[in-house]
Amino acid sequence: MNDKRLYSPKYVREILDRYGFKFSKSLGQNFLIDGNIVRKISQEGGITKDDYVLEIGPGIGTLTEELALNAKKVVSVEIDKNLLPILDKTMSSYDNVEIVHGDILKVDINKLIDEKLNGGPVKVVANLPYYVTTPIIAKLIEEDLNIESIIVMIQKEVADRMVASASTKQYGSLTIFVNFYANPEILITVPKTVFMPRPKVDSAVVKLNIRENDHQVDKKTFFKVVRTAFNQRRKTILNSLSSRELGLDKEDVKKILDECDISQKERAENLKIEDFIKISKTLPSLDIY
Ligand code: SAM
Repeated sequence: MNDKRLYSPKYVREILDRYGFKFSKSLGQNFLIDGNIVRKISQEGGITKDDYVLEIGPGIGTLTEELALNAKKVVSVEIDKNLLPILDKTMSSYDNVEIVHGDILKVDINKLIDEKLNGGPVKVVANLPYYVTTPIIAKLIEEDLNIESIIVMIQKEVADRMVASASTKQYGSLTIFVNFYANPEILITVPKTVFMPRPKVDSAVVKLNIRENDHQVDKKTFFKVVRTAFNQRRKTILNSLSSRELGLDKEDVKKILDECDISQKERAENLKIEDFIKISKTLPSLDIY
């Protein structure tokens, strides 16, 4: 193990200068420079010596190093080839770390878990590039991978939307999407000052505890209903669901809402995930699909 830990701002600068590394804004490169935060992500994320960890975007390896010290094995997928020689050096004394060059959105994660992470279950840990937070999380939770939990640093505002309660401004289709697959919790909130360079917004570390999907509803129908309902969140649910996208007129929607015991005057933001499930399950019985 290296005596110097990678989260020291002075050391980060030194490494970046030595390799002539330039931050890429378009790849969302904001590196952690705070030991407390790095430790908290691992600790509060519950990483132990039994864990197989998939990391997305190791950067120069700051969080990777902490994970290496606490987990059984870490596989980190990094898109930027300019970081590979740096990671080669910074991770050289950790024999439980493997770096994979690639775009996480294109990588066959199932294969990677099978071949490099003992088949799982794995814990995903990442300080995510903000420009692709939602597609990455969507890929991780939709693909039915052997993932136990996802511990990610994301924009605070997005984290608030994930954990929002019904009838609040933050509550919306993202809340429903995430809660359909997982139980989300905010572990810590993180100020801009712990990154180099500093991002414009504050961040939060969220843990998504993946749960068995036992909703028994057609996902395509369900998410179409949710999206349609929240597209016009100011309208009553009767009006927002009476739409060409769903192929429903007002009479159809009235019948569905009656059957589900949901008031026609409710708005999408007041409906719980169970209500949307009920509505989606009622749709096929009307022979409209
Ligand atoms: N983990 C490091 C840290 O905390 O200091 C770096 C975090 S930085 C916010 C995001 C990292 O993800 C960068 O290293 C960036 O190059 C990488 N990245 C961006 N898009 C990616 C993608 N599609 N697949 C894999 N890595 C990606």
